[in-house]
Amino acid sequence: MKTLSDLDLKGKRVLVRVDFNVPLHTGANGETVLGDDTRVRAALSTINAIREAGGKTILMSHLGRPKGGPDPQFSLQPVAHHLATLLNAPVAFSAETTGPAVADQIAALPEGGVLVLENTRFLAGETKNDENLARDLAALADVYVNDAFGSAHRAHASTEGVTRFVGTTGVGLLMQREVEYLRKLLKNPEHPFVAILGGAKVSDKIGVIEALLEKVDTLLIGGAMSYTFLKALGHEVGSSKYEEDKLEEARSLFKRAEGRILLPVDHLVAAAFDNDAPQRVVEGGIPEGQMALDIGPDTLAHYRTIVLNAQTVVWNGPMGVFEMPNFARGTFGIAEALAEATEKGALTVVGGGDSVAAITQSGFEDRISHVSTGGGAMLEFLEGHTLPGVAALD
Ligand code: AMP
Repeated sequence: MKTLSDLDLKGKRVLVRVDFNVPLHTGANGETVLGDDTRVRAALSTINAIREAGGKTILMSHLGRPKGGPDPQFSLQPVAHHLATLLNAPVAFSAETTGPAVADQIAALPEGGVLVLENTRFLAGETKNDENLARDLAALADVYVNDAFGSAHRAHASTEGVTRFVGTTGVGLLMQREVEYLRKLLKNPEHPFVAILGGAKVSDKIGVIEALLEKVDTLLIGGAMSYTFLKALGHEVGSSKYEEDKLEEARSLFKRAEGRILLPVDHLVAAAFDNDAPQRVVEGGIPEGQMALDIGPDTLAHYRTIVLNAQTVVWNGPMGVFEMPNFARGTFGIAEALAEATEKGALTVVGGGDSVAAITQSGFEDRISHVSTGGGAMLEFLEGHTLPGVAALD
């Protein structure tokens, strides 16, 4: 796989697949306002490297899930506008994604110039990995660079198809960093190696649990996932969220782990799914009418100790309903433990939208070895699957 420094970019049309799938809101005057711009800032190093090398940067991305064609609420124009502010340089925008008008705009772009193309998902062929669209995208480029790790698990025209029709391809700096860190987790990780999995569903994570059990010394489970495991093992879970159809699988995974899967021993419970509902800590079984919304203090203390003794830690999925501040202690406590483990010399990697939001909100972002931009892509990578968007660059 070629990296940016391996590529001759001077005067070249460099088509870069970025992940500008950012949250957009409607402002007080009906204008579109960008929410969290982490993903735009994450692309800056690659964009600047291409500009400095004298290439023309042509950026493409999807944004949201527009249905059946162009939809102004998913336009990348506000993102292009914001990018110009971040770069402190002009950024052109093309209302088309492919075609002769775009080619003309690129021809007129100076060396070091930047152009953002309209949302790739406005074109039906994108998610179908349509060959004609892939060719049309490729026609805009001398060099194709993929810097969108978060979309690399999908074989779409802008991530996979296009690579078949551009002579020179490479990875962007963000993608390079993602792949390097995640490979470190899979190849010769230092032990103790601890994985922490949380979030809503066991069903989303069965594959990754199986794969991680081959690698880790301990797997800490939190979030609603815990209650499928606890129910499967015969504990009372009250009205906590769990998956009835995954009990058998949870039981079998737990057995196969031979003591390496740890589950919460106490819980923060409430009678209603409400931040202001009165809460209390319960140990063991959860009484009827009560739902567990966070791990309890003993569980957090135990998980912390394990994380602080680890040399390698990977975390995906919150420990509770951290969107409600009164049930965020477990999730933020794990974030803090990871930051402390990093300072003690551990390699720590966090991925997945919710865990990354928790790390950012808790202010520990800069104290983690690597915060991945991929949720689904990171899980698939850890499962050992080949990511089409990465494999296509080889
Ligand atoms: P996931 O997308 O699978 O990582 O799940 C994240 C979601 O799981 C978040 O929105 C959390 O609010 C939710 N979650 C975590 N713990 C619990 C819990 N104990 N009960 C209900 N939802 C939970």
